[in-house]
Amino acid sequence: MNCDVAHILMLCRRPSGPGDLTPEDAHLLDQHLAECPECSRILESTLAFDRSAAQVMRNVPVPTAGKQQLLTQITTRQARAFRRTWYFRATMTVLAGVTVLMGYGVIRAARPQFEPDSLAWQKDQERQDPAWAVREWLTQEGFSPDLPADFNLQLCTAFGRFPVQGRSVPGLEFRYLDPQTGREEIAWLYLLADARFQFPNLDPARSSYFTSQILHDDRKQSGIVYVVLYTTPTLQPFLRRFHQPLT
Ligand SMILES: [Zn+2]
Repeated sequence: MNCDVAHILMLCRRPSGPGDLTPEDAHLLDQHLAECPECSRILESTLAFDRSAAQVMRNVPVPTAGKQQLLTQITTRQARAFRRTWYFRATMTVLAGVTVLMGYGVIRAARPQFEPDSLAWQKDQERQDPAWAVREWLTQEGFSPDLPADFNLQLCTAFGRFPVQGRSVPGLEFRYLDPQTGREEIAWLYLLADARFQFPNLDPARSSYFTSQILHDDRKQSGIVYVVLYTTPTLQPFLRRFHQPLT
């Protein structure tokens, strides 16, 4: 028995209480009181309160029959309210605990097994055939496997989730070392969902290093806006062939 339940049972046992303790409950309560100094202290002060309340009541000129009725009514109502509150709380605590444990169990059971072989194999595949890996990933993520421009996927150094303005969004990263300048040039292609971003301004933007532009606005079809961010003057170095001017 825990202290919460003991408190309820103690309330029932008060001299003026409803007195509806089963012998089993009474026994369990006694056991708890013998072991729990906190609860026996509460019981003692409750009894002391009852004694002084009874004393006060005796000194108030109320007709005897009415007095007893009043006292019984109050304590019964109090006890009911207390029981409801305590049982409710105890039940909710137990339920919350069970839910958390079950959720925790499910989450733990659903954890993927880490397999070094399969990780190495996957990375092999990505290296050998980046075009295949990218298409696989796009399909898995629920996107069209075709990108809106003919990117040179040999330059793709990473794909997955990238932080964009506080959100984690799907994207691809391309890098190459410009042999003339010795500078590493980078391009990111982000697949921004219409549902997650607003696009009040679709104009290209330029900072000292980066140019960003909407590569393809597919909001009508897939709800995706393809945004590129790149360090080169044009996106061309990241494309396999030059198809058409990107506007
Ligand atoms: Zn206790």
